[in-house]
Amino acid sequence: MTEGAAVELDLLVLGSGVAGLSAAVRAADVHNMRVGVLTKGELPQATTRWAQGGVAAVLRDDPDSTDLHLADTLACGAGLCDTEAVRVLVDEGPARVLELIALGAAFDRDPDGTLQLAREGGHSQPRIVHAGGAATGAEVERALVVAAQRGAAALYEHHFAVDLVVEGGRCRGVTAVGPDGRPVTVRAANVLVTTGGAGQLYSVTTNPLEATGDGIAMALRAGVAVADVEFVQFHPTALHHEAMPRPLLSEALRGHGALLRDGRGERFVDELQPRDVVSRAEVEVMLAQDIDHVFLDARHLEDFAARFPTIAAALGEVGLDPTVDLLPVAPAAHYTCGGVVTDLDGSSSLPGLWAAGEAACTGVHGANRLASNSLLEGMVFGPRAVEAIERGQVGAGATGAMRAVLGDDPEGRPVGPGTVGGRLLARPAPVPPSAHLPVEGWDKIRDRLQRAMSAGAGVVRDAATLAEAGAVADAAAAAVATVVASGEALRTEVSEVANLAEVARAVVATATARTESRGAHSRRDHPLTDPAQRHRLVLA
Ligand SMILES: Cc1cc2nc3c(=O)[nH]c(=O)nc-3n(C[C@H](O)[C@H](O)[C@H](O)COP(=O)(O)OP(=O)(O)OC[C@H]3O[C@@H](n4cnc5c(N)ncnc54)[C@H](O)[C@@H]3O)c2cc1C
Repeated sequence: MTEGAAVELDLLVLGSGVAGLSAAVRAADVHNMRVGVLTKGELPQATTRWAQGGVAAVLRDDPDSTDLHLADTLACGAGLCDTEAVRVLVDEGPARVLELIALGAAFDRDPDGTLQLAREGGHSQPRIVHAGGAATGAEVERALVVAAQRGAAALYEHHFAVDLVVEGGRCRGVTAVGPDGRPVTVRAANVLVTTGGAGQLYSVTTNPLEATGDGIAMALRAGVAVADVEFVQFHPTALHHEAMPRPLLSEALRGHGALLRDGRGERFVDELQPRDVVSRAEVEVMLAQDIDHVFLDARHLEDFAARFPTIAAALGEVGLDPTVDLLPVAPAAHYTCGGVVTDLDGSSSLPGLWAAGEAACTGVHGANRLASNSLLEGMVFGPRAVEAIERGQVGAGATGAMRAVLGDDPEGRPVGPGTVGGRLLARPAPVPPSAHLPVEGWDKIRDRLQRAMSAGAGVVRDAATLAEAGAVADAAAAAVATVVASGEALRTEVSEVANLAEVARAVVATATARTESRGAHSRRDHPLTDPAQRHRLVLA
């Protein structure tokens, strides 16, 4: 490992998932940039390696086409996708998948060598390439880690990025905590935030422990524009079990014909509807029948163990046999649709700061992400940021989601067909410190915050439940502020709670302000979609 102070980096990538490593590999291999990757665990540690179903990309046209992929993505995004951003995704995606294959990623193929294509919820055609049945993320991550290790000028594993270094109105690096617990500053001409989502905001989630929204929180603290964070996608078929993160019973199972059944064994929803629709249907059934889960019926699927070895193994570990048992499932927090606002080239509102992947809001997902579009988004938009840096771009243009920040309509109306304007909200004010340092452990504070967010800002919310979740998030933020005021250096576990509280307060603020139901945001007290609210809520 090379220490930051000694290295002049062209690009510092924060995070080592699909978005960060796709960017790092392109920067090093294609443009010979000096690129550093700073990540809080080991290099392969990322939500990416948990991804199951696959990557959506049109690799065989007729009957499929990129126009159909675009239409499916827009339909899922409930009016908030930026059409141009989706066009970039579907058009550039296939070439990025082929590059990944050239790097050594092995996707599943038929005996004649053609790539197998699966269909998932919300997709009108089978277009999902996958690896190891439902172990796609592990294969994607493996291939990218090998390539990044070969090309990166500096790898900072077990480094926790704390805050952005901003000088003269430009991002110049980050402060971080190294593996020995000591502070370190890593400087670079450009910084790319690819720190992933914030599934750990919730007590029931499919996301690993590191998904604490750190990059989004860092951006909020630096006054960088963040949007769409009220749109948290809940996956409808997480195994109902105490294991955390919750094992996911992939969309691909429903794509292959698995059925959802209520407590009486009846079907209650079209299983191939988008995730928000299916998750809401489950919550309604669970409330009506006073049960805490429903069932996925995969008993009739042929060759389950051969097609889905990872899922079969996970089920075996908890004593379930999918050929015999109904599988208990319930919704779990899965994907953060919003994040750091970017233009079509990944530039944030702060010059020198770029974002991609789940930490970013590119405008691709809108109010709800289409299944298997997120690995693709990382593969497409991470490298686009590199290309823009290579061209010498400084600062953002009014394209993609950035139209909501730089667009010229102060009312936040859509700025044109297929484009979306923005309404600016003030970032929730910092919380003052309390009189006394917290007496309970940070794991308890984190746990309480997660439970409050699940109860108050979950699949279905209303003004009262959001206020309750907000009060708990404020209390967590006050506990952090008290430690900061005492002059004590923040340990990583405290920094994660600080970041979770920051993002929780942003979710509560935007979910409260959005007095309608749209996509993944469902308000009990405002059940209808309000055409006048077809804009992004931007925190800055
Ligand atoms: C169970 C599951 C199944 C999924 N299946 C699919 C699928 O089939 N298809 C699909 O398209 N998507 C799927 N997704 C979503 C997809 O995996 C993620 O959206 C995607 O991998 C995010 O990639 P990323 O590069 O943006 O972030 P991540 O892969 O989350 O990487 C973030 C990186 O940032 C690092 N990091 C975070 N904070 C800090 C910090 N403070 N300092 C330093 N480093 C930091 C992390 O350690 C990590 O290395 C799935 C997600 C889950 C949880």
